[in-house]
Formats: sequence, C-alpha cells, structure tokens
Amino acid sequence: MKKTDLIDTLIHQGQRKRLVDELRKKGIQSESVLSAMNSVPRQWFFPKDFEHFVYRDAAFPIDHGQTISQPYTVAYQSQLLGIDRGAKVLEIGTGSGYQAAVLLAMGAEVYSVEYILPLLKTASEVFKAMGSKIQLFHGDGTLGLPAHAPFDAIVVTAGAPAVPDTYIQQLSIGGRLVIPVGDQTDEQKMMRITKISNTQTKTEILQDCKFVPLKGSLGWK
Ligand code: SAH
Repeated sequence: MKKTDLIDTLIHQGQRKRLVDELRKKGIQSESVLSAMNSVPRQWFFPKDFEHFVYRDAAFPIDHGQTISQPYTVAYQSQLLGIDRGAKVLEIGTGSGYQAAVLLAMGAEVYSVEYILPLLKTASEVFKAMGSKIQLFHGDGTLGLPAHAPFDAIVVTAGAPAVPDTYIQQLSIGGRLVIPVGDQTDEQKMMRITKISNTQTKTEILQDCKFVPLKGSLGWK
C-alpha cells in the first residue's frame, strides 16, 4: 500500500459518521472512543472490492480465515480498557490492524502481536503509509510481550479457552485486561480483569461475544 492508496472520500466520512451514531445508540458512551472511531478510515483495513460492507456494523472475513472485528466490538473493547492518552497498550491479534488504529487514534502507545505473518505484513504496510507509529510483533501472543511489560491495558481480540496468567503478570498495578473467554471455540463472554495488586485481581464477566479462536501455547491447540 502507498500513501496515494489512502483514500477517504466525503462519502466514506458520511458513512462513518452514521456508524458512530449507531454505536452511540448501541450504548458506546466514551467520547474518546467515538471520536477515534469517527477518525479512522475502516476501508484502509478492509478487503478491497467490498466497499459496500465497510461501514456496516459487522465483522468481515479477511485473509487466512480471520476477521476484521465488528465496529461495535472494537468500540466496546476500547471503552472497557478505560485508557487515557499516553497509555501503554498491548493488543493480541493484530489481524487487519483496525483495532490497533483505533487505539492509536485514542492517543495510546500501541504494541500489537500477530502470529500469521502475511496479515502482520499487510497491516504494517497500511501503518507505514499512514505514517503511524505502532510497534508490531510476530509471534505467539499468548506469551504477551515480557520484554516490553508492564502495560496499562491489554486487549485480546481472539477467543481464549481460559485467561493466560502471562497477561496478569504483564499488567501494571491498576491495569486492565479485556479478553473474550469461553470453553467453545465460537462463543465467549467478554471479561475485564483489573490488577489491584501483585496478588489481587477483580474480575467482571460482561456481554456474550463471538471471536475467532486464540491459538498458541496458552490458547486453543
Ligand atoms: N484486532 C483484529 C481482529 C483480528 S481477528 C482487527 O481489528 O481486525 C484475531 C486475530 O488474532 C487473527 O488475525 C489471528 O491470526 C490472531 N491470533 C490468534 N491467535 C493468536 C496468537 N496466539 N498470537 C497472536 N495472534 C493470534
């Protein structure tokens, strides 16, 4: 992708504004999330030739059997992170790069891990063309990124069979982990785990959701 491929027409902008209104109606209240969603052109992270689907509030298939998350899900997870500008955030599952771009637009310092190399390469080209500063890593995201810990927030964008302890260890005190967890590969509950101290956490079990499986040594085999 080149800089000149980064097209954002008035039609895109209008559709995006309508999508943001829809997210507000669906219960997203954080102004920093809504304004980030309003500023990130989703078409840059979306499969070519499917223009009509870009601003629908739905997940969509990308290469290698993965998906670009539903806008509502991106907004909901971003809101649950409860981050301010400058927060250091780790995302697991870069995929299209869209969720990472929304976190960047919220002013976060973003680290993102993806284990399918061609997906990471495509996302990395978009960020390069945008001139955005993001740290992308290839590998098993269930191990987190110990060399860069601690993080103020960790967001997992694939469904885990259980909460990997690595993430709790890599949170700062007061930090939040937002992760879909379920014992089926296609159905999870969103969980938010806050690290109160080195020995204490608070767990909230939230909405039902549907993510592709989190693979890797502490994920699905
Ligand atoms: N955040 C993405 C959603 C992508 S879907 C977006 O906004 O588009 C989830 C992604 O998690 C997939 O790309 C999948 O390849 C990746 N994934 C699954 N298990 C992983 C693991 N153990 N480590 C890193 N990435 C993983």
